[in-house]
Amino acid sequence: MGYNVAIDGPAGAGKSTIAKLVAKEKGYIYVDTGAMYRGLAIHFIKKGVDPENREAVAECCRDAQVTIGYEDGVQQVYLNGENITSLLRTEEVGNMASKTSVIPEVREKLLDLQRSLAREKDVIMDGRDIGTNILPDADVKIYLTASVETRAMRRYNELREKGEACELKEIEQDIRERDARDMNREIAPLKKADDAVLIDSSDMTIEEVVDRICSLCR
Ligand code: C5P
Repeated sequence: MGYNVAIDGPAGAGKSTIAKLVAKEKGYIYVDTGAMYRGLAIHFIKKGVDPENREAVAECCRDAQVTIGYEDGVQQVYLNGENITSLLRTEEVGNMASKTSVIPEVREKLLDLQRSLAREKDVIMDGRDIGTNILPDADVKIYLTASVETRAMRRYNELREKGEACELKEIEQDIRERDARDMNREIAPLKKADDAVLIDSSDMTIEEVVDRICSLCR
């Protein structure tokens, strides 16, 4: 069994930024489970499936194979053998992933992949249900959050830096909707595991959060 660090929290809390830095510092492999949901979302978009049609999504899962690999230490996602990593981080894909991740067959599809990675390697795995459901025996569990306003502002700045037009109010609304879907779904909802350490990063720098997490890890 590898040494396992689980890091969960809502959209935009900074999980991936922080987890990548902790992974580098400690020599763990960073596993981004959101990217796996996004990988399946690309399959659903390609097939033109309506995310509200649960049966159609479940059916469509059958001919999708999501796998991951690493290039220069950076996680790559493959959909039926094709590297789709560069297509993952758009709003369209994020929305499809958020809507379809409530469907049991979608979650089931990715469960073994996530658990087997943690069995074999020392990992820091980020997602929504890692500490509560995927790795209930993780060595360290973190619940990383920040206020909706802070998360929306971070996302806004990120998009502006990339030169993408966006409205702060719309981003805030989108984050509230994603939170509601993630926290209220029937299967594996987003919540803090009883034994997770709560970190609110609203008034912390990235470095402070990384130091705090590193101090909890082996
Ligand atoms: O973290 P990221 O925004 O890339 O995740 C995309 C979507 O996948 C999230 O909105 C969430 O609904 C879903 N997800 C999940 N469980 C995970 C990781 C992501 O439900 N472990």
